[in-house]
Amino acid sequence: MAKALIIGTGAVATVGAQKVAQNYKVFSHLIIASRTKTKVDDLVSRCQKYPLQVMGETVDAENVDALVKLIQKYQPDIVMNLALPYQNLPIMEACIQTKTHYLDTACAEVRDHAGFEYGTQWVYHGRFKKAGVMALLGVGFDPGVTSVFAMYGKKHYFDEVHYLDILDANGGDHGYPFATNFNPEINIREITMPGRYYEAGQWKAIPALSQFHTYPLEEIGPRDMYLMYHEELESLVKFIPELKRARFYMSFGEKYLRHLRVLEAVGMTSTQPIMYEGRPIVPLQFLKAVLPDPASLGPRTKGKTNISVILRGYKDGQEKAYRVFNMMDHEEAYQETGAQAIAYTTGVPAMIGATLVVTGQWTGAGVFNVEQFNPDPFMDLLNQWGLPWKESFDPKLID
Ligand code: NDP
Repeated sequence: MAKALIIGTGAVATVGAQKVAQNYKVFSHLIIASRTKTKVDDLVSRCQKYPLQVMGETVDAENVDALVKLIQKYQPDIVMNLALPYQNLPIMEACIQTKTHYLDTACAEVRDHAGFEYGTQWVYHGRFKKAGVMALLGVGFDPGVTSVFAMYGKKHYFDEVHYLDILDANGGDHGYPFATNFNPEINIREITMPGRYYEAGQWKAIPALSQFHTYPLEEIGPRDMYLMYHEELESLVKFIPELKRARFYMSFGEKYLRHLRVLEAVGMTSTQPIMYEGRPIVPLQFLKAVLPDPASLGPRTKGKTNISVILRGYKDGQEKAYRVFNMMDHEEAYQETGAQAIAYTTGVPAMIGATLVVTGQWTGAGVFNVEQFNPDPFMDLLNQWGLPWKESFDPKLID
């Protein structure tokens, strides 16, 4: 039986913690630590209805010494970082010092520069290896399941994959004129960056949200899918070296984009501090404070997500195409966990990744991405834990 320490009590952690608690045949102990005590207490009480030991703590996850003390106190088998990408590096550092497995759902970032690159975490490989433990990076839906989908398709249906497209569509409606489905600061930073994709051995950049395709999607209809950069492109290109092109698309509605463009035009999405009444404030952080808390969207959101990976390549000399996708209903997710589908589709894979590590199905010492492991047990657990997937062998392709 394993002990998991979850850091964070936001939307994703709300799902991740309850899923760990539901998986009490693997996890006997769950420790939930975050910076706001009332939120920790709430999440602990949600998880206490399951037959495992659940405890709560407060911690500043940017303070390595405090994290080391917390880990030493409870000696978890794995630390699941479900806080923010700003906390990835300090939590990794604490895991190295305490020789504890580590997992996160998004690549590390620093506050004053929107980056999204795995490099800052891959450099920890030697130190994790020396400590004899694993850091498993990017285990949400995208990144996370999208890479597992790609590796599953490659393993079972292709000799070589040449073209890869990821389509992340959210058909959910929360009724607000403008709100983000997860942490607004992280979300808006990634959307307002230039779009970037991989083609013929090079990374190509286009202005943010300047290219889209309309794609017909099961259950949610045709959606405008905008080309964006997303971190799993970096790991997919590394671990599927024969790829000739890899792109990521996300759906946005006209209303959302109109608001975003105005906010951008007036400087509200900037990460550079400005002086306001004698003290520095970061416009994007202020915007986060006035936007609806993503956790509050749960009871209002109706509709489904539809996230897919399309592969094109060759098997036995024949050209092949394949699409694998999951659809998740926002209201179903809310009924089960009190959080909407975006959080659900991130928290479930995080629990699955932790399960595969603590049960020794995915092993290794060092820093790893999900592409480096057998996708089959992960795919089985997705079906078992609420994120069933479907396949199509004649998908519509994007030029
Ligand atoms: P939220 O903003 O809802 O939650 C973040 C949590 O982190 C809060 O509980 C917050 O505490 C806690 N936190 C922040 N700073 C600290 C700190 N210094 N010390 C301790 N705790 C801290 O975010 P989400 O749940 O929406 O997102 C969580 C993560 O999931 C993010 O990294 C996000 O990028 C990632 N994500 C990944 C996706 C994927 O598919 N791979 C999709 C969606 C999200 P407090 O409550 O006090 O603010």
